[in-house]
Amino acid sequence: MSKLNLDEIKEKLIAERELLIEKLKGNDLSIDDSETPDPVDLAVRNYSKNVMLAVSENESRQIALIDEALLRIEDDEYGQCQNCGKDINPKRLAALPSARYCIDCQELQEKGLLDEE
Ligand SMILES: [Zn+2]
Repeated sequence: MSKLNLDEIKEKLIAERELLIEKLKGNDLSIDDSETPDPVDLAVRNYSKNVMLAVSENESRQIALIDEALLRIEDDEYGQCQNCGKDINPKRLAALPSARYCIDCQELQEKGLLDEE
């Protein structure tokens, strides 16, 4: 835990968050429905709208994870697995600063074996 450079991690998280917000804003612009609809165009647009909504959902979730990680930095709890409480490997955190779980618990979560609050 003492090896973690929290300032650097915080910077990374904030930069990542800004990028995601920019992306979300971009999506909002492209689902502007004010143009005259053409049936074919409309179908295509509905399709891409759905894809974009899925993307937005994914991004919103990532932003939520980043917010959580930033809160944990403030609370001095950063770097602890949210399931088992063990320290998360610093290398893992460097690669994925918003990680909530250690590798073992992440695996459980991906298999749907973890009880999430
Ligand atoms: Zn764990």
